[in-house]
Amino acid sequence: MVAPLIDIKDISFEYEQTKALDNISMKVEEGDFLAILGPNGSGKSTLLKIMLGLIKPSKGKIELFGVDAKNFKNREWIGYVSQKSNSFNSGFPATVEEVVAGGLAKKTGLFHRLPKSAHQEVAEALEAVGMQDFMGRSVSELSGGQQQRIFIARALVAKPKVLILDEPTVGVDHQNVQAFYDMLASLNRDKNITLVLVTHDVDTVTDRITHVACLNQTIHFHGFKEQLHTMSDEQREAWYGHSVRK
Ligand code: ADP
Ligand code: MG
Repeated sequence: MVAPLIDIKDISFEYEQTKALDNISMKVEEGDFLAILGPNGSGKSTLLKIMLGLIKPSKGKIELFGVDAKNFKNREWIGYVSQKSNSFNSGFPATVEEVVAGGLAKKTGLFHRLPKSAHQEVAEALEAVGMQDFMGRSVSELSGGQQQRIFIARALVAKPKVLILDEPTVGVDHQNVQAFYDMLASLNRDKNITLVLVTHDVDTVTDRITHVACLNQTIHFHGFKEQLHTMSDEQREAWYGHSVRK
C-alpha cells in the first residue's frame, strides 16, 4: 500500500492564548485535489503551516511520504504559496523569470544571474501556469491574478509533488477565478501534482476538487476528509451550509 503523502494524526496547536487546532486528523493521498474550507480563524493557515513543518504541533503526529516529519529530508517535494503573497509593489525591479527562478535558489544557492540550465525549467513552470508570454516583463506591472500565477510558477520550478496553496484567489479578478481554477485542475490532472488548497470559493471549486475537509467547530464533520462524490445531499449541506452539485 502506498503511504499517504501527508498524514496528520490527532494534531493540536496553540498560539500562546489561542487554541488554533484541536485534535485534527487528515490524510492527503497522491492525486488528491483537496479543498480545506472553514470560517476565518478556524485554523486553516495554521494547519497548512503544520503540514509544511513551519510550526510544530503541541500534540499529535505527522508523517510525510511515509516518514516521520522529524526525519523527512525531501522538503522540496512539498511546495507552498502562502496567503496574500501576490503583492509586488509598483517599481519592484524583478522580471517574471527572476521571480520564478527564485524558486530554484533553495536547491542551487542564491544567484544574481540566472544560470543557463535554469532557463528551460523556468520556461516550463511559466507554461504550466499559462504565463509563458510574460517573459521579460516586470512583475510589478502584472495584475493580482497574474502575480499569483507567477508565485505558483516559482513553487513549481522546484518540481514539488504536492503543492499547498493558502487562499490563492484573493487577488484574482472575479471574472478570472474560473480560469484560475482550470489552471490548478490541469496541474493536478496533467502534471500529476497533488493539491491542497484553502479557499472560500466553495461554488467554484466544487467541480474541480476530489476531496473536501472542513475546519469548523460547529459542524459534525470537523477535521474530517470526505470524498465529494460519495457524500449524501445532507452531508454536502452540512459542509457548505447550502446545496452544491455533485
Ligand atoms: P484561518 O487561516 O482559518 O483564518 P488561522 O490559522 O490563521 O485561521 O488562525 C487560527 C487562530 O489562531 C485564530 O484565532 C487566529 O487569530 C490565531 N492566530 C493565527 N496566527 C497567530 C499568531 N501568529 N499569533 C497568535 N495567534 C494567531
Ligand atoms: Mg488563513
